[in-house]
Amino acid sequence: MDFNFTPQQIHFREELREFLRDEVPVEKQEVFGLLTEEQYQFGREINLKLAERNWLTIGWPEEHGGGGKGPIEQGILAEDLGYWRVPKSQSIGLGIVGPAIMVFGTQDQKDRYLGPIARAEVEYCQGFSEPNVGSDLASLELRAERDGDEYVLNGSKMFTSYAFHADYMYLLARTDHDAQKHRGISMFIADLKTPGISLTPLPYINGEMAAQTHFDDVRLPLSCLIGEENRGWYHAMTTLDFERSGLWRYANVRRVFDDFVEFCQASAPDGGQPLAEHPLVRHQMAQRRLGMETWKLLCWNVAWMQSSGAVPNSEASVAFLYGSEERLRFAEMAMELLGPYATLRHGSPLAPLLGNIEGIHREAMHLHGAGTTEIHRNIIAQRGLGMPR
Ligand SMILES: Cc1cc2nc3c(=O)[nH]c(=O)nc-3n(C[C@H](O)[C@H](O)[C@H](O)COP(=O)(O)OP(=O)(O)OC[C@H]3O[C@@H](n4cnc5c(N)ncnc54)[C@H](O)[C@@H]3O)c2cc1C
Repeated sequence: MDFNFTPQQIHFREELREFLRDEVPVEKQEVFGLLTEEQYQFGREINLKLAERNWLTIGWPEEHGGGGKGPIEQGILAEDLGYWRVPKSQSIGLGIVGPAIMVFGTQDQKDRYLGPIARAEVEYCQGFSEPNVGSDLASLELRAERDGDEYVLNGSKMFTSYAFHADYMYLLARTDHDAQKHRGISMFIADLKTPGISLTPLPYINGEMAAQTHFDDVRLPLSCLIGEENRGWYHAMTTLDFERSGLWRYANVRRVFDDFVEFCQASAPDGGQPLAEHPLVRHQMAQRRLGMETWKLLCWNVAWMQSSGAVPNSEASVAFLYGSEERLRFAEMAMELLGPYATLRHGSPLAPLLGNIEGIHREAMHLHGAGTTEIHRNIIAQRGLGMPR
């Protein structure tokens, strides 16, 4: 087994790091649990610069505006952007919508939607969850009824992250009420400026302002349907797996872990002996290092499977679930070791690591985004171990 990158991949990573050193000063880096408007706009600026170099979609085929490389190069980009804590934007367009359109879209949809994503001109949000529907996604209720050459949408979507920044929503709606629940769902792209769409703000514990998105007689042309009518469930399950190498998410946490190691070697929050002098601290940190390395390899395994043409499925859930729990273990350990100082938020002069410990702890407590831990356990048991539902 060869864990090394090729010389070209190493060269790409070195160029990327040089770019990030110049463009992403510490004061602009994202702080966990605090995504300000300024930080968000900074993330978009960086994406525009990456797009100018044709790096943003380095793994996409050239015919779709990409760099013609593959998932490994896209993974190198994700890992380094995460490690440099570049504020997150564009991820749904780049990670899910673009690949979904490449697989299921018509030529006209490829021409219309892929270029703006690759050029970082547009932002997408994802409309899957609803007020009464989360884990049991196939029970979704948002209706899309055919009326001539349009679909008319009524209902609402819940927990729409990035809704206030997005131009488009990629969503699932029910198009056949008589069919079995998985077989009556279709996938659409909706321009959020379409009359009848409105947003109610929904603040998350991680500092982000998300939304409930309402659809009130929203008319979408037939050309907004992605893939086949009533096959949206199957299309969505395939595209969800595109999202899950998780390298950005891993590296984002890894950076705080590495910074925390340095902090423990140099100081203690109360000005006493450095934390690393205590054997208990050293052992706990060593244990978390095992966790971080394992998480990294699980993520790269998914990227490697994608680069070999395989479709990761339970492997993506293994990496995602392990990561969610490792993030929480690290956050809880740091909280315990730093005591009350750990609870100080960004902005307090005494907050260790710019408040990242408090922020990561707040963020780590939510285990629901992109599927709860129980749902990922179900996937691993059923699809990975062949156990019954
Ligand atoms: C930060 C964040 C961002 C999000 N962003 C988006 C977004 O952009 N777009 C979007 O569409 N959604 C988004 N979501 C919603 C997310 O996908 C849902 O929260 C998730 O699917 C769970 O649904 P629910 O919250 O309705 O919980 P429920 O499905 O009601 O689950 C409640 C509890 O029951 C457990 N449970 C449910 N079913 C089973 C089962 N079969 N076996 C075992 N346990 C089960 C769950 O694990 C959970 O602990 C986001 C959520 C969060 C927290």
